[in-house]
Amino acid sequence: MSLSSYLETFKDEIRIIDKELGIEKLTPYLKTEIPHLFKVKGLKVVGNLWNSRERIARALKIERDDLVRVFEKAIENPVPCEKVSDTPFLQNEITEFDLRELPIPKYFKNDAGQYLTSGVVVAEFEGKRNLSFHRMLVTDRNKFAIRIVPRHLYSMHKKAGELKVAICIGVCPSVFLSAAVSASYDVDELEIASSLREKTLGEKVKEIKIHGLRVPAFAEYIFFGRITQEKAREGPFVDVTGTMDYEREQPVLEVDRIYHKDNPVMHALLPGGHEHHLLMGLPREPVIFKSVSQVVPKVLGVRLTKGSCCWLHGVISIEKQKEGDGKNAAMAAFTGHPSLKKVIVVDHDIDIYNDSEVEWAIATRFQAHKDLILIKGASGSSLDPSADSTTSKIGIDATMPLKDNEKFRRIEE
Ligand code: MN
Repeated sequence: MSLSSYLETFKDEIRIIDKELGIEKLTPYLKTEIPHLFKVKGLKVVGNLWNSRERIARALKIERDDLVRVFEKAIENPVPCEKVSDTPFLQNEITEFDLRELPIPKYFKNDAGQYLTSGVVVAEFEGKRNLSFHRMLVTDRNKFAIRIVPRHLYSMHKKAGELKVAICIGVCPSVFLSAAVSASYDVDELEIASSLREKTLGEKVKEIKIHGLRVPAFAEYIFFGRITQEKAREGPFVDVTGTMDYEREQPVLEVDRIYHKDNPVMHALLPGGHEHHLLMGLPREPVIFKSVSQVVPKVLGVRLTKGSCCWLHGVISIEKQKEGDGKNAAMAAFTGHPSLKKVIVVDHDIDIYNDSEVEWAIATRFQAHKDLILIKGASGSSLDPSADSTTSKIGIDATMPLKDNEKFRRIEE
């Protein structure tokens, strides 16, 4: 299964734009949050399909509220992929191409150019495999400048000198979400994906070995190439918070060949859009869930909120066992996700996906002089423009007392 297989599943929700659009014309449509199917340079482009938890859960055939818990189990228990020897994308191999002629959008006026933002980069080095997302600026017929922050791909490239990579576009939701997990170096993100797919759809992720790399067997496009020792200017670029990131020297990725399915679908992932936010936030929620579970016996849900780019603010619901659990849960959440700046802890009777209910809990169960934790001078997210070198964090314990709590209860009938 790859991205195009889901166009049928969600056809009632997708708006089709019939007229051909230029590469710089997609952003106003993608800002609406409605899933769109476009035609750009004569080819299909889809955006916003994975910008809802409900849709992602439906694609995985689970309930929305089970997503965090199931994903947490998958992260904890990676399983090997199933090896296959043939796949639909092998139908078309191109060695003569021009990346500038592909339907790769330019999202914002001041962006340096066309940016591929939805590609999962697969690399292998000394027996370890890594999957990660990187923004890639088209700089030439066959070249990208790839932004690599010092994590796993960076280390692999540094040690290898020139590193063979595959860029996979339009993979299934299990692979898409798992590639965004910040696992440790020894963990193979595609095995997390395989576990997630097995726990939800009952089958492992299929992989295929081509050009010395083991890659997901289902994708719309796969570009094979090398991250070279050459450098190029990368940026400016509007990133996750919707603010401008500056220009830097970054490695050049040279593409040697492209494989694609018949009638392939390009994925346009709007930087700073809700699809981008969810992709960042969803893989962090299981980590927070695990961290909080270690201090509070029963955690019911964790959500990083939309307004905070699914990154800076969270809501947690717990089943309180003893007084003080709410505050411990808040502290554990900060430990699990160091970028977290505000966390609200509520009781199990509050729907954490409903902002009004969460606000109701704060309005009726919270007193700042005793229920607020304020931490100054902590390390936070570099994405937050209001933070200096450090940040302040607040924990809001909006749980009701365990004893004599009749007056806090909502009357249902
Ligand atoms: Mn990794």
